[in-house]
Amino acid sequence: MSTSRPIATPVADSAFDIAQKQFDIAADLLHLDANLRDVLRNCKRELTVNFPVKLDDGSIRVYQGYRVQHNIARGPAKGGLRFHPAVSLDEVRALAMWMTWKCAVVGIPFGGAKGGVICDPKKLSASELENLTRRFVTEISLLIGPDRDIPAPDVNTSPQIMSWVMDTYSMSVGHSVPAVVTGKPLSIGGSEGRLEATARGAVDVIVEATKHHQFPLNGARVVIQGFGNVGSPLAVFLQQQGCRIVGVAEENGAIHNPRGIDATRLRLYKRETGSIVGFAGAEPVDPRGFLELPCDILAPAALEGQITQRNADRVQAKMVVEAANGPTTPEADVILGDRGVFILPDILCNAGGVTVSYFEWVQDLQSFFWDEDEVNARLRKIMVRAFQNVERVSDDHNVPLRTGAHILAISRVAEATRTRGIFP
Ligand code: NAD
Repeated sequence: MSTSRPIATPVADSAFDIAQKQFDIAADLLHLDANLRDVLRNCKRELTVNFPVKLDDGSIRVYQGYRVQHNIARGPAKGGLRFHPAVSLDEVRALAMWMTWKCAVVGIPFGGAKGGVICDPKKLSASELENLTRRFVTEISLLIGPDRDIPAPDVNTSPQIMSWVMDTYSMSVGHSVPAVVTGKPLSIGGSEGRLEATARGAVDVIVEATKHHQFPLNGARVVIQGFGNVGSPLAVFLQQQGCRIVGVAEENGAIHNPRGIDATRLRLYKRETGSIVGFAGAEPVDPRGFLELPCDILAPAALEGQITQRNADRVQAKMVVEAANGPTTPEADVILGDRGVFILPDILCNAGGVTVSYFEWVQDLQSFFWDEDEVNARLRKIMVRAFQNVERVSDDHNVPLRTGAHILAISRVAEATRTRGIFP
């Protein structure tokens, strides 16, 4: 009889393992005491719901969804809703923890949360998507509320879906509650500038970083992975800064043109056809190896875990701007860092979305609305200040910006927790 054992294949870290590793690096440097470390390292509340949805053919399907609140020491929980087949409780925990740090980095008075449903919204009709959203919101209404936990858009969720969130919650309490969710259309209490806020905030930070590091934006070649809520306006704004968009990838295909892709035309093309595939101003390119295309700036704007130890040494960009949450693993961070690649970390780079969500919530609570110039000016002020604070902390500790951003955020949340004390 053979006694040989199967060869163990290395198990990749989960998203939450990665979030905790990033936390540990910063907590060690902060000499955070063990008790506080336990509080901040874990999620406060985790709700799993299994709920039935009526489909158009009369059948019923049970979906699983989650709402996780990582921490609420600095204010109500805040974080998006993701509809995607790969959603898991572990992923939602990681995204909730990153939300806590993100709100603290930009200094807005929210804690961190996230929600998600395991589903493929592209396979659902509009009425099925509405049924799914309304039933999910009813299930998680145990947790959400304008003073408690305020959802927002994320992957595959839109202003229309946020309208259904707002309406469902409002129906259950018997009056309109616009402040229960952000990322809504303007007609029901949305904010000017919210739709493009994540991309605009990222560009505010990119402009500031490139100024500090004498990295010319004019003429810089950009590769963008993901052309959705975040990636498509990011491409347009970077083009307005003089960058040349040379590659764009989506779930179903990627395109490349070293002479430049017109981001505004590509956005219109996607609006008309639902995809970037077949766009006349570029050639199709193999999505495998897409992140390794020659460029100066690489902007992941899709999902987590894209730049790993398997491809980091082949990334050609000089700068990685993390429009997505969690696109780079800790191993890849080290490889890129050793090669001198400058990384603008997610919890700083894409914090413009939650910042304008905060503005939307404030406007809803006051029923007093600002114009777009005011929103964008306040956003820029917050993003530039956050970049400067993160850079200062990173320099003080001689660490990369990701660790600097975590040190800044964790120290703010720890301070709030210490000040409030542990109940009872
Ligand atoms: P979205 O659903 O609007 O767009 C996601 C895009 O990623 C789509 O273009 C999709 O085709 C593409 N994509 C998915 N899998 C891919 C793959 N394997 N390869 C290439 N492309 C792929 O989602 P979004 O709201 O733009 O979110 C994108 C990222 O930004 C996520 O990490 C999200 O958490 C983060 N984020 C979003 C916001 C926001 O306000 N929406 C704010 C902060 C951070």
